[in-house]
Amino acid sequence: MPELPEVETVRRQLHDRISGKTIREVLVFKTGRETPLGEKFVQAVVGRKLKGVERRAKVLVFRFDDGAILGHLKMTGSFVFVNKKYSPTKHDRMLFVFSGDTRLIWSDVRMFGYLKVVTPDELTAALSAYGPEPLEASVGALADRLQRKSMRSIKATLLDQTVIAGIGNIYADEALHRAGVRPTRATNKVTADERLRLAKDIKNVLTESLAQKGTSANDYIDTEGQKGGFLAFLRVYGRGGEPCRTCQRPIMKTVVAQRGTHYCAYCQK
Ligand SMILES: [Zn+2]
Repeated sequence: MPELPEVETVRRQLHDRISGKTIREVLVFKTGRETPLGEKFVQAVVGRKLKGVERRAKVLVFRFDDGAILGHLKMTGSFVFVNKKYSPTKHDRMLFVFSGDTRLIWSDVRMFGYLKVVTPDELTAALSAYGPEPLEASVGALADRLQRKSMRSIKATLLDQTVIAGIGNIYADEALHRAGVRPTRATNKVTADERLRLAKDIKNVLTESLAQKGTSANDYIDTEGQKGGFLAFLRVYGRGGEPCRTCQRPIMKTVVAQRGTHYCAYCQK
């Protein structure tokens, strides 16, 4: 699933191309994951001008003067700019035509993603549900967020969007490896020094991935249809059985918090 670096990459590209533009037309090819549905969605957005595209956690916020469209890519969603000659494929769900004839396709193979038109009050409520943004909060503030009496695993804590926003399976595994903390460790057994290391490594791995326009481990593409370049830099995620880049011992793969989890049994205590 796209996480902070991937969603932020998409956000920047969308913002550059469509902020200040008006939605002239929306064609719905496949209805079901937009709110309100079908023609009501079209009526709710056509003629409105986008102030900009923002991001909170893994959610895109297409902001109007009053309210917004919230967008979540989930597993396989994408927004790709196309030209006038483009013919839709079977996974395309909507075509947005903006002023200046800028065209954007919303596509989703597995149909878990969504678009939702919200009022200003609904927007405020939706965005307040998340923990701090890891690239904006200080290392100390993030470390404090990780201080919990919980017995659940530190990996589950990192995946909890109300603790810190935007971290998913890839960057949880990567940050834990960098910090030398095993993903199965109970959150309340992680020491103050380890929390600080983990907070710093969360910021580092997200920043480095963002510079590469994210990780295309599965279906992720940006608005130009391009893959992110961070896959080659991953230390553990998706590398079960391959040598640890630090100690050369094989990376272990297990399940933690119902998610496939990768770690080095030697480097991570
Ligand atoms: Zn190792």
